[in-house]
Amino acid sequence: MSLGKPVKQLIAARRPKVAAPPEEVPLTPSAKAFRGAAEVARAGGRRAAGPTLLSDAEVAEFFRRLHAIQPEPRGELEHVNAFTLLVAVVLSAQATDAGVNKATRALFAIADTPQKMLALGEERVRDFIKTIGLYKGKARNVIALSERLIAEKGGVVPDDRDYLTTLPGVGRKTANVVLNMAFGQPTMAVDTHVFRVANRLPIVIGRTPEQVEEGLLARVPAQYGLHAHHWLILHGRYTCTARNPQCQRCPVADLCRSPEKRV
Ligand code: SF4
Repeated sequence: MSLGKPVKQLIAARRPKVAAPPEEVPLTPSAKAFRGAAEVARAGGRRAAGPTLLSDAEVAEFFRRLHAIQPEPRGELEHVNAFTLLVAVVLSAQATDAGVNKATRALFAIADTPQKMLALGEERVRDFIKTIGLYKGKARNVIALSERLIAEKGGVVPDDRDYLTTLPGVGRKTANVVLNMAFGQPTMAVDTHVFRVANRLPIVIGRTPEQVEEGLLARVPAQYGLHAHHWLILHGRYTCTARNPQCQRCPVADLCRSPEKRV
């Protein structure tokens, strides 16, 4: 039996209105592929619900704002050349930048090359850095890496990640910091702040620093590549803090989809 036109109109008018699905913001192919893999990874092999990644346009806007606030961000570890930067980053593992700076000011004043560091010797280096956690092992590494640089590279820190990561105490993150700050390469050193901020917004979803590094390298617009890791670190250190994120004064709060957002 067919219903008359007025009855059909009445039924249609009473049908509950269903909200239109949110508009899909286009992602680049690499971001799409990364999102798929990352969301599966987060779910431990299954797809799971959770905040969707920021779109490419939102990622660009995130960095545009941080760039506008601080166009030339600097790392906070004090150094005078590539070698002292390398040593400072090695010393900064599980220590604060402020604590490292306090110890290295006097150390670098008398030992700013591998040759001078080696001449100083492990015991004296230990004395300079004894306020830093794990200082005994770190002093050993500083002397050992100085020896290697002298024997294998003429005392020069090379812009070579594969080589740098063979040095004692130097991991991928340390090498990325040195390549970025001393050699101007657009690397992504993922520390605890970068890891948290990237996963929170989320710009990427990654369970390991390597996944987050890979995702950020795929997603950060080229013009922001050089300073991206500093902006993320500073945002994480001073605004998007681990325990008490300062969402009320966060310059990217409207972009953020984190369930931890407090606005
Ligand atoms: S709104 Fe809050 S959680 Fe989101 S990025 Fe800003 S500080 Fe972090």
